[in-house]
Amino acid sequence: MMSPVPDRIAFLGLGIMGSRMAANLSRAGFALTVWNRTRAKAEAFATEHGAALADTPAQAAAASDVVVTMVVDGPQVEQVLLGAAGAVEGARPGLLCIDCSTIGPTATRTIGEALATHGVHLVDAPVTGSSPKAQDGSLTIMAGGTTGDFDRARPVLEAMGSLIVHAGPLGHGQMVKLINNALAAINAAAVGEALLVAKRAGVDLDALTKVVAAGAGSSTMLELKAGPMRNHDYATLFKTEHMLKDVNLCLGEGKALGAPFPSAAYAREILTAATGRGYGEDDFAALIEVLEGTAGIRL
Ligand code: NAP
Repeated sequence: MMSPVPDRIAFLGLGIMGSRMAANLSRAGFALTVWNRTRAKAEAFATEHGAALADTPAQAAAASDVVVTMVVDGPQVEQVLLGAAGAVEGARPGLLCIDCSTIGPTATRTIGEALATHGVHLVDAPVTGSSPKAQDGSLTIMAGGTTGDFDRARPVLEAMGSLIVHAGPLGHGQMVKLINNALAAINAAAVGEALLVAKRAGVDLDALTKVVAAGAGSSTMLELKAGPMRNHDYATLFKTEHMLKDVNLCLGEGKALGAPFPSAAYAREILTAATGRGYGEDDFAALIEVLEGTAGIRL
């Protein structure tokens, strides 16, 4: 009897997140074929993890039952799945694609419709948790798709995450992800502003963060980003330009629906300014540079 668990996976996109997620799939025993735009990264990964190396997404898909994508945005997902030498060129009918990139629901639905004409299924499964959680396999993964496709994707997702939520039909994982990231950006900006007020008042910042962490003003962004902001340490866990992409996508969806999100619009402007100042590839903790400029003080 055929195992219901897909055992051969093509992984496309070995960046900060993809390399760590693919490593967990390998550790979980899935047979992996990897492809990355910059081939050297795929070669290094294949050597370290004993994965097969593909020259193109099509070649990776031809060797696999499931294709996981972890690239940056909608045009890139479209390119690697549906473009020249894209995964569908190597796909057999019934192939399941799991897109873990954050690309928004509109692009997801468009890509899903195009894949369906090739008999290929799509689940959107964006992730949250950043590189440390990608590393230890404890990501939160929010998925969209039919129940049948989600059930097929689940064992793959469980190897990469600890909380797996089926949010609804195709695209709903993406919408949940965009709202979550917009909230994270808003919270990060608020943490930076609070630190600057405290600094101006001459308050001890250790005392402040200790109290806030135990109080109603606490947030994951306080926990994760107050330290890097205070140290001006922007070692990249999540790029400023990617956070800006996500907030823009969220605002675009809201605009199309007539659903305002004013605080996200404010966060977008802070992130735009940080990108304009050259911090696009740095961690989004760098938004403190913009807030410091406005406040006229440095932490
Ligand atoms: P990253 O480190 O910049 O990696 C991006 C990946 O996409 C690399 O493999 C890159 O290949 C590939 N890529 C870029 N342009 C491409 C193109 N034109 N065609 C094909 N492949 C291309 O980004 P990341 O942090 O891993 O993020 C990946 C996705 O996860 C994004 O959608 C991001 O918003 C989302 N995400 C990130 C985090 C996080 O904390 N980092 C958390 C949750 C979700 P090269 O190696 O050739 O550049």
